[in-house]
Amino acid sequence: MSMEDEIETICRVCGYDEGEPRWVNGCACSVICRACAAQSGLNDNLLEGVRELRGYWIGQGAPWFHPEDKPEGWDLLKQMADLPPEWR
Ligand SMILES: [Zn+2]
Repeated sequence: MSMEDEIETICRVCGYDEGEPRWVNGCACSVICRACAAQSGLNDNLLEGVRELRGYWIGQGAPWFHPEDKPEGWDLLKQMADLPPEWR
């Protein structure tokens, strides 16, 4: 990967950034979010689907897919603030 590569590490659905590339130059890396379980390339291709999944996830109480990774004092709204504007 070079400096010009467009790399997305933030989950489009929940805003969680685990630092792992989820999308590189428009190609999905099939990474499953450790917070909301959305898989890049499967659940986050379209804004409509992203919003629907986000709403469903929050409606369930925003349960973590890997609860052991949930940071101490985790704040859903703070995390959501990191969502890229085009995926809000
Ligand atoms: Zn997520």
